[in-house]
Amino acid sequence: MSDCCDNLSRALEDNAILQKARGTIADGRILNDIFSDFYIRMPGEGHGYRYYAINFCPFCGRSLSAASPDAQP
Ligand SMILES: [Zn+2]
Repeated sequence: MSDCCDNLSRALEDNAILQKARGTIADGRILNDIFSDFYIRMPGEGHGYRYYAINFCPFCGRSLSAASPDAQP
């Protein structure tokens, strides 16, 4: 869940940004090594999606991974 900011809440509602547990992504692949439950999803080549994990809110800059208990370094 996200209490970050209204912009992020809206982006999640619009599926501009997705919140998923890392192990549950089965419809694409993650292209970077950031450990986070927040992703930007893009269409892949062929089937599936490309996911970019993001550590920080793109709107207000707060840490997103800190909100995820499994994401501690
Ligand atoms: Zn935010």
